[in-house]
Amino acid sequence: MISLKQPNRIVEVNFESCGKIYKGWRVQDNNKLGPYKGGTRFHPDLTLEELKDLAHRMTLKCALVNLPFGGAKGGIKVDPKKLSKKQLEELTRTYTKAIADIIGPKKDIPGPDMGTGPEVMQWMAEEFGDSRVATGKPGAPGRIMATALGGFFILNTKHQILNTKIAIQGYGEVGAGLHKLLDRKVVAVSDSQGGVYDSNGLDFEKTMQIKKNKGTVKKNISNKELLELPVDVLIPAAMENQITEKNARNIKAKIILEMANGPTTLEADKILQKAGIIVIPDILANAGGVIVSYFEWCGSPKTEAGVYTKLKEIMLKSYQEVLKISQKDNISLREAAYKICQKRLNLLL
Ligand code: NAD
Repeated sequence: MISLKQPNRIVEVNFESCGKIYKGWRVQDNNKLGPYKGGTRFHPDLTLEELKDLAHRMTLKCALVNLPFGGAKGGIKVDPKKLSKKQLEELTRTYTKAIADIIGPKKDIPGPDMGTGPEVMQWMAEEFGDSRVATGKPGAPGRIMATALGGFFILNTKHQILNTKIAIQGYGEVGAGLHKLLDRKVVAVSDSQGGVYDSNGLDFEKTMQIKKNKGTVKKNISNKELLELPVDVLIPAAMENQITEKNARNIKAKIILEMANGPTTLEADKILQKAGIIVIPDILANAGGVIVSYFEWCGSPKTEAGVYTKLKEIMLKSYQEVLKISQKDNISLREAAYKICQKRLNLLL
């Protein structure tokens, strides 16, 4: 947890959908720099505390990459994999109605997150009655690869990744997206059930085919083992709190690219810093998604090529700013990123 202050507003909703009662939330952290902006998570273990933390990270992320947005996060405690498409649609529409008073194209703009995607965003926009209320809708240019690409641009610039061995935890939009970009440099991937490791590299198309056919990439390693593999770069792209004081000392990677939100605990971060491991912090590494959501909200750039060019520009500029402060003040990339946010938000972090 990095937030010492409470969010501006928390809305909890309890509602019925297809004969079952669900609990959902929308947390609006801060709107100093613009309308609230943040993802929508559908997950069986979702908690309010988690959403508060994620909403605050959104505030920091938007400030860091200079977007005129504040931070928010919302979601429902549900396992979307257990619902039919019809049930998922009804659930999404009922949740949207329940939070309709506090969202809006100039108030609070939800996007996708774990367990949601373009279809859910489309249903939210339809139910609200204004397409600009949600981003990440089907056909938004460059959105599917945005987050993965944003992280890839930083990794590619800072580090010579030609002969690099990479492990990725999480095989969803972000994790699989990065595998597509990095292809056989990736030697291990995992999903919630377990992982696969091949020191000669994993072919993206083949791995994706296995995931589609079997529903998992699980083969010969656990998620715990993946984090501790002898690789150069470790990319957590699944859940929060995966790198903790229990496993931080066992990590062999020299660079950690935090694509998930909050994958490293505070205690683990200190251990990694002491060990000289470079951590590219989440609010920088995974900002590509919200940057491209901003383009969708503005309606420009309209083409995928235009989106990628602008995305690269913003990611690299933000990275350079963070790097400069980190070198000047001899502090970690995370501390440097927070310092920039603190200045832009005039906040006590
Ligand atoms: P997703 O739902 O598409 O995929 C999540 C993946 O993580 C799945 O493969 C799932 O099986 C796996 N997973 C879940 N629990 C796991 C566990 N305990 N161990 C290993 N794997 C596990 O989600 P996503 O959109 O790819 O998001 C992944 C992470 O990136 C989240 O932390 C999310 O907040 C963050 N993020 C996503 C975006 C985006 O644009 N999608 C933007 C910024 C940050």
